Amino acid sequence: MAKEVKTKAKHDDKTPGQKLAEELFFAPKNCWEEVGGEGDEKTEKEINGFADSYKEMLDKGKTEREFSAAAAALLKKAGFVPLESLNGKKPEAGAKVYEHVRGKALLCAVIGKMPLRAGLNILGAHVDSPRLDLKQSPLYEDCDFALLDTHYYGGIKKYQWTAIPLAMHGVFINGKGKKIEVRLGENDKDPVFTITDLLPHLAKEQMQKKLSEAVEGEDLDILAGSRPYNDEKVKEKVKLRILSILNREYGITEESFASAEIEFVPAFKARDLGFDRSMIGAYGHDDRCCAYPALRAVLEIASAKTPPEKTSLCYLSDKEEIGSEGNTGAQSWGFENFVAALCGEENLRHCLSSSFMLSADVNAAFDPGYAGVFDKQNSSYMGKGLVFAKYTGSGGKYGASDANAEYLSRVLSVMKANGIKWQFGELGKVDKGGGGTIAHIAAKMGIEVLDCGVPVLSMHSPFEVISKIDLYTTFKGYLAFLKDM
Ligand code: MN
Ligand code: MN
Repeated sequence: MAKEVKTKAKHDDKTPGQKLAEELFFAPKNCWEEVGGEGDEKTEKEINGFADSYKEMLDKGKTEREFSAAAAALLKKAGFVPLESLNGKKPEAGAKVYEHVRGKALLCAVIGKMPLRAGLNILGAHVDSPRLDLKQSPLYEDCDFALLDTHYYGGIKKYQWTAIPLAMHGVFINGKGKKIEVRLGENDKDPVFTITDLLPHLAKEQMQKKLSEAVEGEDLDILAGSRPYNDEKVKEKVKLRILSILNREYGITEESFASAEIEFVPAFKARDLGFDRSMIGAYGHDDRCCAYPALRAVLEIASAKTPPEKTSLCYLSDKEEIGSEGNTGAQSWGFENFVAALCGEENLRHCLSSSFMLSADVNAAFDPGYAGVFDKQNSSYMGKGLVFAKYTGSGGKYGASDANAEYLSRVLSVMKANGIKWQFGELGKVDKGGGGTIAHIAAKMGIEVLDCGVPVLSMHSPFEVISKIDLYTTFKGYLAFLKDM
């Protein structure tokens, strides 16, 4: 490939108007324009290296359980110890602790030199993604097909989940109380699953329906088998064969589904996208493309020779896509319990209200194919770096935590001081829709919090798209936040 030659106009060539415009306008540039020139092979290598390790992590962690387990393994390798091992004692500066909350959420911290009462620097992301969960009695037979009934999880466009390969992930608890982990459809030799779609030849009526009704929630049934069990006397022969296979492989019966947590996710792997390989297409960028940089930023802090000034904390929560409910979601006390264990019950409230947080979550990248729903001047753009969203919510900022101007400007000055490329982004035009994150939950505890993450195309679809340079910039931005806030 030919080497790019960069030409820079001499400053003197500029007219007074051009100079003034440069000084006064806010116009974030595409970050790639500053990468890969003469003598900058290092940055290019770092961006691609980071993207490669991220893709690997995505393939390992397609569910909240898998991702948090993979993250916990990285922490252990870096010398983090479980919270219980403190035995109620307060950790000293430099201590590295973590807690894996019920195998789904993850908390970790590197204790700083300043007392915890002075507050923490927190990165909070989520590791659950939209998917199809099995119901508690999912398996049935119809016309010699075995099918699995699902209940979708999170905000999805249902029609997007038909006619694609799906993989089965999750846990069964067998009759003896033993947990059996399941992951089927990820290796090339594994079988995969799918939800059938109607052929266009017969879809005349379906095509007249609204997009939201063309494929309904109850239509999302997964094709799981078609071969009868050879016994004339049995009624549901295909279902019996499937159960006999599940019994052989996992030691379970139909009753085991009642206590199981089985999730179906797209069976494809994370891939480089585009001729220039500038992007990554994958399932589950929301919100692992923020969770992973957050985790890596804390690992970087942990690997430094001296402890950070302030304590760094990373929270990878679960259940964000369904409102952060449950005892692994951000609305639970899991986060506060962890902080209380570090700073002591007596300091908890003071510590929280003195803390700073980036609610690390994705934003909608401007999509020229759907330009009408975006406010061009207030959208985030792929390739322009880390996105800050002062507020989320919908219809008159309803449900938004709306970061304070003083805090926002302080975060931005840290970014500027560290050379981090940033942009801001509001999720679509006013009254076109909206969304939320875990920011409002942190705000309730008195924490200064701001939404900040990676711009994404095709959000919540089975195959979301991000830019490699935004991913890397986000990591650098999160690291600057932990170090300098
Ligand atoms: Mn999210
Ligand atoms: Mn989401």
